[in-house]
Amino acid sequence: MSNILIVDDDHKLCDVLASELNELGFQASTAHSVNEAVKFLQQNKDIDLILLDLKLPDKDGLYLLKTLREYNLRYKVIILTAFADLESAMESTKLGVSDFISKPYDFDELLNSINKALKA
Ligand SMILES: [Mg+2]
Repeated sequence: MSNILIVDDDHKLCDVLASELNELGFQASTAHSVNEAVKFLQQNKDIDLILLDLKLPDKDGLYLLKTLREYNLRYKVIILTAFADLESAMESTKLGVSDFISKPYDFDELLNSINKALKA
């Protein structure tokens, strides 16, 4: 069973996506800010993949990604954002993200991307 952390300030998106993923046999958890995500990751060491929004209320999703990489935490990360500008796409590619998906997302596309990232 794969553990997925969804980091997004859109509570509804988190709830819908988490229940869809849980129905498929994943173990999905949610966090709504960078601080919440950091706390969660400190307490749950077995996360396999993070679905990461870029616009979060406290800090930028890229800030979280950079911090994880600085601490050499090689979580698999898929960026899920409505603000898919080229600069953040390039920066997150440098930081080794598995994929970069635009909102509104297509669930099948996201699921393919998740399965691919988990297998890699
Ligand atoms: Mg957001």
